[in-house]
Amino acid sequence: QAVLTAKGKDPYPDWKPGEPVPYAALCKTFSLVELTTKRLIIMEHCSLFLRQVLRLTPEDLLSTVLLMINKLAPDYAGIELGIGESLIMKAIGESTGRSLAVIKQDQKEIGDLGLVAVKSRSTQPTMFKPKPLTIRGVHKGLMGIATVSGNGAQGRKVDGIKKLLSAADSATPGKVDITKDKGGPSEAKYIVRFLEGKLRLGLAERTVLVSLAQAIVAHEASLNNTVPSTTDIEKAESILKTVYSELPSYDVIIPAMVEHGIMNLRDHCKLRPGVPLKPMLAKPTKAITEVLDRFEGQTFTCEYKYDGERAQIHYVAKDAGEELSQSLPSATQEVGRGVASIFSRNSEDLSKKYPDILVKLHTWVKEDTHSFVLDCESVAWDVTEKKVLPFQQLMTRKKKDVKIEDVKVKVCVFAFDLLYLNGESVVEKSLRERRELLHKSFRTIEGEFSFATSMDGQEIDDIQTFLDESVKASCEGLMVKMLDGTESGYEPSKRSRNWLKIKKDYLSGIGDSLDLVVLGAYYGKGKRTSVYGAFLLACYNPTTDTYETVCNIGTGFSEAVLEELHKDLSVIVIDRPKPFYAHSVGNQHQPDVWFEPRYVWEVKTADLTLSPRYKAGSKENVDPSGEKGISLRFPRFIKVRDDKKADEATSSRQVAEMYRKQESVTKSKGPSVDDDF
Ligand code: ATP
Repeated sequence: QAVLTAKGKDPYPDWKPGEPVPYAALCKTFSLVELTTKRLIIMEHCSLFLRQVLRLTPEDLLSTVLLMINKLAPDYAGIELGIGESLIMKAIGESTGRSLAVIKQDQKEIGDLGLVAVKSRSTQPTMFKPKPLTIRGVHKGLMGIATVSGNGAQGRKVDGIKKLLSAADSATPGKVDITKDKGGPSEAKYIVRFLEGKLRLGLAERTVLVSLAQAIVAHEASLNNTVPSTTDIEKAESILKTVYSELPSYDVIIPAMVEHGIMNLRDHCKLRPGVPLKPMLAKPTKAITEVLDRFEGQTFTCEYKYDGERAQIHYVAKDAGEELSQSLPSATQEVGRGVASIFSRNSEDLSKKYPDILVKLHTWVKEDTHSFVLDCESVAWDVTEKKVLPFQQLMTRKKKDVKIEDVKVKVCVFAFDLLYLNGESVVEKSLRERRELLHKSFRTIEGEFSFATSMDGQEIDDIQTFLDESVKASCEGLMVKMLDGTESGYEPSKRSRNWLKIKKDYLSGIGDSLDLVVLGAYYGKGKRTSVYGAFLLACYNPTTDTYETVCNIGTGFSEAVLEELHKDLSVIVIDRPKPFYAHSVGNQHQPDVWFEPRYVWEVKTADLTLSPRYKAGSKENVDPSGEKGISLRFPRFIKVRDDKKADEATSSRQVAEMYRKQESVTKSKGPSVDDDF
C-alpha cells in the first residue's frame, strides 16, 4: 500500500520502512514545489511527502517539517544559524577545492549561492562516495552548526557546512546543469539556501501546516482502509491551526499527533506556560469615526496604548504538580514560589533582560493564582515623578545579562490581557471575562505592576477625551477592543479587526508607521562621508518570500545614529542583491552597497503613492498596468525595531491595504518624491 504517484510508481525507491528518510527524497519534493506557484499543487506535493514519512518513518516527521519551514527549533529556543554569505562561500570553496575568488566570481554571475554550491560540486572529481544524507542527519548537522560557540566557533561552523556539502548529492552521479535553476540534483542547493534562511520555494509555514493536517488525516484513514471525507480534512486543518496558534511548538505537537491522532490533538496540546504564543495584533485606523463604524452595535473598550516593549509573562507555581512538569525548560527562572519566563513579541526569551521584573513578580501575584500567561507592555518608569517615560528611555537598557543592581531605567509592567489562568486556557472567554479574572488574580503595585488604564464609554467625545488623556500620559494613543461575545476572544497570531489601534498622530499621516527591512545604502555626502547617508528599504511579501523595495530614506537620523547604523550594517554587506530582493534594475537606482536582510526599522511617512521605481505591493493589484509599486513619500526614520525579524516586517499586503485606504479618502498627491538626500 505504497503512496503511489499518478503513474503508479513508487517515487522514493531507496527509502525503506523504518529507515531514516533520505534527504534526497525531501529535495525531490522541494524541486517539484519550486516548479509551480500554485498553492494547491504545492500543498499536494508536501502532504504526499509527509504522508509517506508518516507511513514509513514517523520518527522523522518532526525534522522533516522543521526542514520544510527553514527552522531548526521553535522560536523561543533561540537557536539561530546566523551565518553570513562570506562563511558559506568559504565552506563551498574549501569543500570543493575551489578558491574563494572563483566562488565570489560565480556568485557575482549566478547570484544564487545555492546554485554556486551545486556548480562547484559538479566540477569536483569524486574520489570516494560519502554516505547519502538523511533528513535527521542534515537536521543534526545544521543544529550543530547553529549551536557551536566559544573559541574557534566560526571555523567549526565552516567545518560543519563542509561536512554537509561534501556528502550532498553523493547519490547523484554525473554533472549538474546549473542553468536549470529548477529541478535536478539539489541537496547542496537546499542546504545552502537553508543556511541563508530562505529556501525560496514559495512554501509558507501555513501551507506546511495545512499539508501536515491533510497528510495525517489521510494516513489515519488509510490505516482503516477508508478515504477521509472533506469534512474530516477541514476539521483536521482547523484543529491543527488552532492548536498551533496556542502552542506553537512542533516539538510538542508532532509526537502528540502521531501518538493520539489528529482528532484528539486538542486534548493533549493546549496553551501552556513555558511555550510563548504569537501575540494578537491590531489593525490600524485613521480616525475615531472609523472605530465607531467598525464596532457599530457592539460594545467595546478603549485602553491606553503604552509605548514600551511587549512582554508575555509565563508563570507556574512550584506546587502546581503536573502543570509544572509539563512546562518546558524555558520557564526555569525561579521567582518566589514559582518559575517564570518573559517572552518578546516574536517569542524571544527576555528573562535575562528583565530580572528586575522577575524578582518582583511574586509580590503582584495573589495567593490563589497558581499559574498564568499575561499579555503586557513593559514601559520605562520615572520613579521620582511616578509616571511613564517615553520609549527612547527603554531603548537605553541593556538587552542581555542585565544585573539588577545595574538597572538604571526602571520599568513598570502594564497588563492588558490574561491568556491562561490556574491550569486553564482562557483565550476563548470574552475580553470582559478575561479582564475580570485579570483584576481578580493580581494586585497592582505603583511603578511595578498595573492594569492598562481603560474606559468603556462608547461616545465619540468620550473617546476623544480619553485619547487626549493617553497622550498626556506619554502613551502612543489608544487600543480599542471588542469587549463582549465570541468575537472578543483572544486570537493568537492574528491581526484582528477586533482590536483597533488609534495612534496620536494618525490624523496627519497614513494611519500607521511601517516596519521595513534595510536592503541597501548610499554613501553619505558632505558631513556624512564616513557613514551611509541614505538607505533602500523594503517590505516583505510572505507569499513569494521576497523583499519588495518601497523607498529610499535619508531623514530622521542624527549623526550619532548614522554612525551606529554604519557600524552594524557594514558587517553585513554582501556583493550583490540576494535573488529574493524585488528591486528595480538599472544603474541609476542601485544603492552603493547591499546588505543581508537583517535589520527592521520603524518608519513614518506622509503618504503612499505609486512609483515605477519601487516594487512594494506590485503583486497586489494596486496598479492596473501592473508596472508600478507603492512607495513612501517623505519617509522618516523613527527607530530600529530589535524585536522584529526581517520576515516580520510590514507585509506587501499591509502596504497595499494602507494605500487603498488612503486612496479611498484622498485623491492622488502627485508623483513619487524620493527622500532629499
Ligand atoms: P503590530 O504589533 O501591530 O505589528 P507594532 O509592533 O509596530 O505593530 P504598534 O502598532 O505600536 O506595534 O501596536 C501594537 C503594540 O502596542 C502591541 O504589540 C503592544 O506591544 C503595544 N500595546 C501597548 N498598549 C497596549 C494595549 N493596551 N493593548 C494591546 N497592545 C498594547
